[in-house]
Amino acid sequence: MMLKVNGKDYEVVITKKLGNRNTYIRVKEDLKIYVTTNTFVSNKEIENIILKSKDSVLKMIDKMEKRCEKKSGFNYLGKQYDVIYTSNTGIVLGEEKVFVNRDVDLDKWYKKEASKLFQEHLDLCYNNFSRNIPYPTLTIRKMTTRWGVCNTKDKRVTLNLELMKKPIYCLDYVIMHELSHLIHPNHSKEFWLLVEENCKDYKKIKKILKE
Ligand SMILES: [Zn+2]
Repeated sequence: MMLKVNGKDYEVVITKKLGNRNTYIRVKEDLKIYVTTNTFVSNKEIENIILKSKDSVLKMIDKMEKRCEKKSGFNYLGKQYDVIYTSNTGIVLGEEKVFVNRDVDLDKWYKKEASKLFQEHLDLCYNNFSRNIPYPTLTIRKMTTRWGVCNTKDKRVTLNLELMKKPIYCLDYVIMHELSHLIHPNHSKEFWLLVEENCKDYKKIKKILKE
């Protein structure tokens, strides 16, 4: 059931069991209110119990909200934003805050942003590249161990979606790195010279990406 607490709607998940002697209220990471109680307690009574201990329930919600924010955090192109949950749809980026609906799938949003941005920067890097290389196709995906992959056979560059959270020069470095693989498939000395030729600060950026 849904319950309005201080003007805000919360979903209440109720578990009723014969053996439950007491009523327990918890808030989980999905920010729903979980109530376990006895079979004989009506929903109306549950509502009253929650509203009676409104302050402590709101405190639990607040605590869980803060914990979730800390865990996920909102980073966009190297900048960290405070997350403010709103009932509006979508995401609005402010100066230091991001206004986001709880139901928004962040990865989906990042991916939509990335498909435009990564392609633009791939084109930019490709046009500025110091050697003649074939124009690669771009794939974007979330990866856990690598920032980018270059398939030299298919002429395909895969970029890690997580680059959306890093400063834009990191994206450019990874692209230049992967483009350099189209000439040198390995990580030889010649390869790194070519990377440097196209990205002067690559050593510094590599370090930032390692963190
Ligand atoms: Zn490499």
